[in-house]
Amino acid sequence: MKTIVVTGGSRGIGLAIAQKFWDESYEVFCLSRFEHPSKENWKYVKCDIRDKKQVEEFAKHLHSKQKKVDTIINNAGIAGSNSLDVDSGDELWYDIIATNLHGPYHVCKALLPLLAHGGSIINITSVLAHTGVPDQTAYCAAKHGLMGFTKALAKNLAEKKITVNAIAPGWVETEMSQKRMDELQLSKSDLCEMVPLKRFINGEEIAQMAYYLAGPNSRGITGQSFVIDGGFLS
Ligand code: NDP
Repeated sequence: MKTIVVTGGSRGIGLAIAQKFWDESYEVFCLSRFEHPSKENWKYVKCDIRDKKQVEEFAKHLHSKQKKVDTIINNAGIAGSNSLDVDSGDELWYDIIATNLHGPYHVCKALLPLLAHGGSIINITSVLAHTGVPDQTAYCAAKHGLMGFTKALAKNLAEKKITVNAIAPGWVETEMSQKRMDELQLSKSDLCEMVPLKRFINGEEIAQMAYYLAGPNSRGITGQSFVIDGGFLS
């Protein structure tokens, strides 16, 4: 049985990814900050990816069970508005960078010794890994950083035949996007008007791409970003 580790598999995009791989008979480990009920071959582990020690403890646990990891999905992330011309303090900047950039680094570093030869790392970035939005300074910095990490790590791990790619979603209906819509005081249909295909992306569409990137037919693809955004960036 193959094994996948998904950060932030408790809801939203991460949950859709965990579901897809579980349906495809993977053993699934989901890391998130809070407890969630586990089921057969789908385990939730309370692990805050901002904390290197907690991630290392998780890696030790897998090692003690003699598990190999086939796929890592760095999905967990947070967002928030932090324009520099508004006096909003520094806390959000550090928290977004810690979660969205340091988190994937901690996970890749700790799990690398367990990653199977020919395995895959998939980083969930965003369209904001490719463009800027005025009040999303930390989020854009972290997601651009995660894309840079993806490219460098792809070359770093190529010798082990481990592929490293990014999926960059546009709007997906989740708690995160709902919070953003509330902030912007815009509805889903307002936002769809800004998307050429006039719709949001489903978590399942992201999961399908992740499954492809983890599978045997994508072994020649590494260091790339797959934008799934209904044409927003085009
Ligand atoms: P949600 O807010 O719905 O879910 C975020 C997940 O991350 C939760 O499972 C949460 O679990 C987990 N998480 C947050 N912080 C931590 C942490 N420190 N350690 C471990 N887990 C954590 O977000 P989405 O599903 O919308 O987003 C998933 C990814 O997709 C993010 O990286 C986001 O930036 C990206 N994305 C989302 C888009 C969208 O429109 N929704 C668009 C583009 C990119 P818990 O609370 O239990 O810790």
